[in-house]
Amino acid sequence: MNNIEDLKKLLSTPKKVAIVSHRNPDGDAIGSSLALFHYLSRYGHEATVCFPSEYPPIFRWMPGADYILIHDKQGEAANKEIEKAELIFCLDFNALHRIDKLGEKIAEQEGVPKILIDHHLDPEDFSDYTLSDISASSTCELIYDFIELLEDTKTIDKIIGECMLTGIITDTGSFRYSTSSKLYRIVAELKDKGVDDLDLQNKIFNSQTAKQLRLLGHCLTRGLELLYDYNTGMIILTKEDYRRFRIQRGDTEGLVNYILRIKQMRCAALITEREGFVKLSLRSKGDFSVQEIASKYFSGGGHRNASGGMSKLSLSDTIKKFKDILPGYEEELNKPLDF
Ligand code: 5GP
Ligand code: MN
Repeated sequence: MNNIEDLKKLLSTPKKVAIVSHRNPDGDAIGSSLALFHYLSRYGHEATVCFPSEYPPIFRWMPGADYILIHDKQGEAANKEIEKAELIFCLDFNALHRIDKLGEKIAEQEGVPKILIDHHLDPEDFSDYTLSDISASSTCELIYDFIELLEDTKTIDKIIGECMLTGIITDTGSFRYSTSSKLYRIVAELKDKGVDDLDLQNKIFNSQTAKQLRLLGHCLTRGLELLYDYNTGMIILTKEDYRRFRIQRGDTEGLVNYILRIKQMRCAALITEREGFVKLSLRSKGDFSVQEIASKYFSGGGHRNASGGMSKLSLSDTIKKFKDILPGYEEELNKPLDF
C-alpha cells in the first residue's frame, strides 16, 4: 500500500466504517472482518460488518459475530450501513461483482474511500487503497500486515488475535497449505498476546456434528470418483444428497480436501448440485493450477491451489465438461511427485 500515510490520516479521527467480505463467508472472511472490526472499535470508529450471505454456525462463538449483518436477510439495514459509511473495507475477495447486490451498493458510493485487503489472484481495480498479496496465507495475515503498516501491532490484543488466528488456521488448513517463516512469527506473537491456539483448533475442527461426519462418510464412499489417468478425484453431491443428509451452510466445508490425502492425487473437485446452478470447489497439490480451470471454464477464480466456480449446465453435463477438460492437462497431472 503506497498511500498508507493518507489512510492513516483518515483513520486518525473516528469514522463510520463498513467492513464487507464474500458470499459464503469462511473462517478467513469472518476472522479478518471481526479482527478489523475490533481493532477499529478500539479507536472509537463505528464499524459494522456486512456479508452477502450467512456464515456457518461453527463460527458463532467468535467475538462480535452476533452483530454481523447478512445482506440476504437484512438487506435494508446492510444497505443503510453502506450508505452511511465514510470508509469501506473490502476483505478476502478481489472484485465487487463477487459480492452481488452488496457490491452494487458499494459501487454506488462514489467518493467514499474503499480499501481492499486480499490475497486472491487478479484483483479488480476498484479500491483507493490496496493491500493485495497473493503470497499471503490468508487475509487475516494481511490484517496483521495492515496494522503493522499503521505501526500499531501493540494494539493487537487477545480478542483481535483470536479472530486473526481463526482465519490463518482455516485458510492454511492448520498450517498445511501455505506457510512462511513470517506467518509463524506472527502466530508466535499472537500466542504471546494470550491467544489460545489449541482452544481455537478445538472450536474449528473438533466441533462437528454426527450428521457432518456421516456426510463425510458418504462423500468418501459412494460420492467419490477417482480418475487415476489424471490423478484427479471428484466428490459429487446431488440435490437428493442435500435432502437426505440435510446439508446446510458450512456442512460441505473441507470435504474436497480429503481427496488430496491420496498420495498421487493432484487435483480434486467437489461438484454440488444447487438450485439453478452447479457449484465447483477445486483444490490441487503442488504447482498444478486449479485457478486456471476455474477461471477459464467455470466463470470463477481464487488461488492456484484452491479455487471455485459455477456452471449453468445440468449436474451430469457439468461433470462431463470437467472430465473432458482433464486430457488437456494430462502431462501436468502426471508429472512425478516432488515429495
Ligand atoms: P471454495 O471452494 O472454498 O468455495 O473456494 C475456494 C476459493 O475460490 C476461495 O478463495 C474463493 O474465494 C474462490 N472462489 C470460490 N468460488 C468462486 C467463484 O465462483 N468465483 C471466483 N472468482 N472465486 C471463487
Ligand atoms: Mn482467504
